[in-house]
Amino acid sequence: MTPLSSPKSSVLLIYTGGTIGMRADSPDGALRPFDFSGVLQEVPELSKYAMKIDSLTFDPLIDSSDVEPSTWLDIAKAIRDNYDAYDGFVVLHGTDTMSYSASVLSFMLEGLGKPVIFTGSQLPVGAPRTDGRENLVSSVEIASAKLPDGSAAVSEVCIFFDSKLLRGNRTTKISAERFDAFHSPNIPPLAEAGISIQYNNALIRRPSSDERFSISTSLDTRVSILKIHPGITPQVVRNILLGPETRAVIMETYGSGNAPTAPWFMSIVKEAVAMGKIIVNVTQCGSGRVDMSRYATGKTLLEAGVLSGYDSTTESALAKLFYLMGRYENDERVKELFTQDLRGEISK
Ligand code: ASP
Repeated sequence: MTPLSSPKSSVLLIYTGGTIGMRADSPDGALRPFDFSGVLQEVPELSKYAMKIDSLTFDPLIDSSDVEPSTWLDIAKAIRDNYDAYDGFVVLHGTDTMSYSASVLSFMLEGLGKPVIFTGSQLPVGAPRTDGRENLVSSVEIASAKLPDGSAAVSEVCIFFDSKLLRGNRTTKISAERFDAFHSPNIPPLAEAGISIQYNNALIRRPSSDERFSISTSLDTRVSILKIHPGITPQVVRNILLGPETRAVIMETYGSGNAPTAPWFMSIVKEAVAMGKIIVNVTQCGSGRVDMSRYATGKTLLEAGVLSGYDSTTESALAKLFYLMGRYENDERVKELFTQDLRGEISK
């Protein structure tokens, strides 16, 4: 099935900031955001689509290094308030934290039945060799694409970048330099743009008919990330795993979920679990999955009560914990749901 862009389609562009809409400012030459009319002027191709394209601009515009939970709430509310009026949404966002934002939004937007496409660029849209124009134009086309039965071709939170449509909560930023800045290490793209946009329909999730669209507005951000490395000290591990302010810790482990078996290390992990901390295991490898039953070094973590993050990215595990902990006071419920596939973010 080739999705069509119908003349009756409408797309809302939500412009939060990022390089795509920046220009070099005097006197220091640093890139700063400029207003949205400037972005649209640089992309006259958009007017060739027979569809309604409206925009909503954040004030102030931000470099995505300044993204906070309140930014995610603002994006979620903008989508909720305009949900019925548009066929799809394109979120223009800086690349630095785009994978975090797309991951969090994939959880906050419950019962999503329309496309929410995050995009941006490595070069400002006014630069001669910009990647911003093609990223924006293809994102708009995808956000308006429908199947012959009238339903959305894509009903997920995605990132479109360098000709590829990726599930947002599967992505990670892998390059500060190249146009293919994002990677979805453990699942293939949902679509690829060449002469036409080819959708991988078997992979695209469809909304369940009994779920109505709503947004989850409560996020609990009391999460720390512990990256295991040779030479890590008991003091560092203790500070992170037993810190009174953390409710959950993401442990970035070696390979398929392995960590030191030194008695001091395991005793801190066990103490943290006994204190009620939610500890999840995500691999620090660029691709692949956690399988704690594979090596004795992983098995000890499993036996201590550490949860598997399966093939989750760190960004997605963080987003899922923020969302689940915001929704549920009960840690057992959080743990139970963390190991389930909620939005296509893990394969078990
Ligand atoms: N620092 C910029 C941002 O994330 C980088 C970019 O947009 O590519 O907002």
